[in-house]
Amino acid sequence: MPPENTADSPLAVHARSIVIDTHADTPQRFVDERWNFTDALDGGMLNYETARKGNLNAQFFSIWVDPHQYAAHNSARRTLELIDGTLEQVRRAPDKLALCVTAGEIVAAHEAGRFCVLMGIEGGHSIENSLGLLRDYYRLGVRYMTLTWSNTNDWADSSGDIDDPAVKHHNGLTPFGREVIAEMNRLGMMVDVSHASDKTFWDVIEMTKAPIIASHSSARALTGAPRNLTDEMLRAVAKNSGVVMVNFYPAFIDEAWRAAWNASRPERKKEQDALKAEYKAKGLPVPFEASDKIDRKYAALIGRAPFQSLIDHFDHIIKVAGIDHVGIGTDFDGFPTPPAEIDSAADLPKVTAALMARGHSADDMTKLLGGNLLRVFSAVEDAAVRLR
Ligand SMILES: [Zn+2]
Repeated sequence: MPPENTADSPLAVHARSIVIDTHADTPQRFVDERWNFTDALDGGMLNYETARKGNLNAQFFSIWVDPHQYAAHNSARRTLELIDGTLEQVRRAPDKLALCVTAGEIVAAHEAGRFCVLMGIEGGHSIENSLGLLRDYYRLGVRYMTLTWSNTNDWADSSGDIDDPAVKHHNGLTPFGREVIAEMNRLGMMVDVSHASDKTFWDVIEMTKAPIIASHSSARALTGAPRNLTDEMLRAVAKNSGVVMVNFYPAFIDEAWRAAWNASRPERKKEQDALKAEYKAKGLPVPFEASDKIDRKYAALIGRAPFQSLIDHFDHIIKVAGIDHVGIGTDFDGFPTPPAEIDSAADLPKVTAALMARGHSADDMTKLLGGNLLRVFSAVEDAAVRLR
């Protein structure tokens, strides 16, 4: 590894790159806890200060409506509240934050020293089967949509419940699901295949007219989570010119951690169900913090997943898909404990250092840290212009 004080030291490379994370579950905290990104004392995994320390320049905030807490016909209302909560962060701190809705705006905000706030919707149920709502979300600044969360919706199958016989599946995308993809292509909204079932993934690959993203997915060859991507899928994303953003959730990057986490599921579920029943009786949604606390307790019993397991996923995706098709999609605030050495966004330079220690070049890192996502975002914008 080069010494720290040269232009190609990992710290220097990290500091001069545009660093983009495509997935953090923070918006629930903006709305439910009235938590401020820029003056957070209790930081969580991601806040303005830790982002600055880790030279994280742009964050896609996940607009996620919990389908177990909000009835399908209330998805849009909750979606709009989460979008508002995110946009309010920018309104309150215009000197620090900038809403970015194009790849060019990410670069401009970076040059101006502002932190980019971007939005992606996680779960197609948010559009309540309406292309009009999809367009409205685009107008409000949403620039990607994860087709499904862990729940199959009316038009796309999810990997999260694909084995559940009680759920009505569609064998991938329905005809309306194909209309959704076509409309996203036309609008210039990135299609995100994280969480999608394998068949949904292949249906998207077959029909999309623009590069796709997996906003927070890792490699299934290393960790057998069904929402990780197989090597065949990784190669398909490369062929599509898309990008796979590595998820930091220990259950998706470390097989031993995943096994222990799955083993604790019955006990965890009992506690979570009791909490849900308690709040249902009060007519209130379960606060994020209360449910997170239960998961954190069980995660602490397992301990931290090895940091090198995370680096292995980057390495594997680089090997299979190529350096032009990998990036960072941490899933911060969406899991109970990060892997060892990563306490918050402030530790992102460690990822750069670890990958450079394995022989990846400074140019490789600039692509991985944000260049690849900027390329895909621009290509999606160009495709939209062509399709109009
Ligand atoms: Zn997710």
